[in-house]
Amino acid sequence: MPKWIFVTGGVLSGLGKGLVSASVSKLLQLRDQDMMPVKCDGYLNIDPGTMNPHEHGEVFVLEDGTEVDMDFGHYERFLGVKGKGDWNLTSGKIFQEVIDKERNGDYLGKTVQMVPHVTDQIRDKWENSAQEEDADIVIVEVGGTVGDIENMLYLETIRQMRSELPEEDTFLIHTTLVPYLETTGEQKTKPTQHSVKDLREEGLSPDMIVGRSQEKLTEEVQEKISLFCDVEKEAVISDPNLESVYELPLLFEDQGVDEIISRKMKLQTRNKDMQDWKKRVKALRNGEIAMIGICGKYMDMEDSYASVEEALKHAAVEEGGKIGIEYIDTENFDPEKLEELDGVVIPGGFGSRGVQGKIEAIKHCRENDIPVLGLCYGLQLMVVEFARNKLDIDAASAEFGDEDQEYVVKHMPDQEGIDQKGGTMRLGSYKAELTGQVKEIYGSEMASERHRHRYEVNPEYHQKLEQNGLKISGKTGNGELAEYVEIPEHSFFIGTQAHPEFNSTFEEPNPLYHAFTKTAQNQTP
Ligand code: GLN
Repeated sequence: MPKWIFVTGGVLSGLGKGLVSASVSKLLQLRDQDMMPVKCDGYLNIDPGTMNPHEHGEVFVLEDGTEVDMDFGHYERFLGVKGKGDWNLTSGKIFQEVIDKERNGDYLGKTVQMVPHVTDQIRDKWENSAQEEDADIVIVEVGGTVGDIENMLYLETIRQMRSELPEEDTFLIHTTLVPYLETTGEQKTKPTQHSVKDLREEGLSPDMIVGRSQEKLTEEVQEKISLFCDVEKEAVISDPNLESVYELPLLFEDQGVDEIISRKMKLQTRNKDMQDWKKRVKALRNGEIAMIGICGKYMDMEDSYASVEEALKHAAVEEGGKIGIEYIDTENFDPEKLEELDGVVIPGGFGSRGVQGKIEAIKHCRENDIPVLGLCYGLQLMVVEFARNKLDIDAASAEFGDEDQEYVVKHMPDQEGIDQKGGTMRLGSYKAELTGQVKEIYGSEMASERHRHRYEVNPEYHQKLEQNGLKISGKTGNGELAEYVEIPEHSFFIGTQAHPEFNSTFEEPNPLYHAFTKTAQNQTP
């Protein structure tokens, strides 16, 4: 059976528990432990696919097509593991399963209760996935904060496991906020004390406290937290503001985080080699190698494109520097904004807002040979732009056009008539057969990337587009669907129906992003 690390949070949500889990996991992975990250969310949605990204950030898509919390982005980017749908629990999924079992008569006439039936279901899910994966350590992050009604069942499950399993088989990390009070010039520990009290009410005591703060925790504050919260002083860990999230594993290493965990959990570990990680973090401190514009609706910016930003960063690090990113609002689009840029990304998106601006941006890049990478909706809009200006047709996508226009992007028959919202898009990894520039870039005749979309380039237009110079350089195996498009004469005019950003990690950037960034870097504006 595996060992278990639990990560809880207190005081506020949004403290970066996902990054704490990812960083701890990275250090233990480098010590030869097979890590399996699990995220538990309290909400009743089955998955975040139907949630407003402005409220909840980017929806991350796993290889198996499950739409999951964006924390999986951190796990995969840090660890290089490929997450599975079962590793993201939501209360919605758990309740649905329990209710299905009840309807099936699986509980043999018993009264079905939160404890033990729901908690058993949670534990079964964790243990089954761990067994399937043959993981050494499962690290379970509980979303939200201690004290939320929604999280109580996860905490109760943890309590049961902590009391049943041998002491060295579990470890509890509690992440809290340690605010700095300007008037007195002090870091304050009271919120931490209170949240540990809340945790104790659930029957749990932490083995380690990670204090999220502006600056590193002072020694005095560490001592105080240690005394009042009953953890060893060396297990009170600083998690200050950092220039880059990838520095966190190094900072944790300095504080002996993996050492403390290994000792308490009696892990058989080997020495770790952090040279490559350190080299990459160093590159992030170098200058910007290229300035990239991401064109989107103003509303969508920030968290919605987290994976795109990270993939650009990974690619730049491979070239020894960092990336400059500017957001271009396509609802008030001004082509002059593109003048200073070395490259442009047209990211994924939904709906009609800001579309005209994105199409103008694509046109400007095409006509002025500015490197441009189209992602999903980006590819679809590249096709619309090309059809309008090179094929001279009144083109649109069925997503935003009206019926007297020609839909060069439309629903495929298997998507028509689907009214249900959750999990009904084309989701997860699909293979594409490559030719042209993309074949060179991937160094392969085949690429497999993750998808999340409803519409496709209309196959009736493939030939016309190709005859006029927009090459369909990646297709699904049956040749029916366009997966990549490119203009061969252009320095970099490539669109993909997929989201290659979901396959980029800090240690291994995605080839398409890498090629795009390199081309942008060589651009002299
Ligand atoms: N809105 C488009 C579609 O549904 C593109 C989706 C996306 O960019 N992820 O096909």
